[in-house]
Amino acid sequence: MNCNKATVLMSAAIDGELTGKEAEELSEHLAECPECRTEFQEAKNTKIIIRERIVRVKAPKNLVESIVRMTNVTT
Ligand SMILES: [Zn+2]
Repeated sequence: MNCNKATVLMSAAIDGELTGKEAEELSEHLAECPECRTEFQEAKNTKIIIRERIVRVKAPKNLVESIVRMTNVTT
């Protein structure tokens, strides 16, 4: 599993939506990835879905803008 997938699973875990297999995969990743472990701990503490923050930080600007545009269309 890579960190992006782990982050998605972390969000689901916080929402209580993980399957048993996903929870297992996530804990395996957390065991070997200190960065995600820190993120997950922080997310559990704050109940903030970190995926959105990570997308904002890492996504190219034009992607962010197109997401914003899509959001504007649907709202
Ligand atoms: Zn990771």
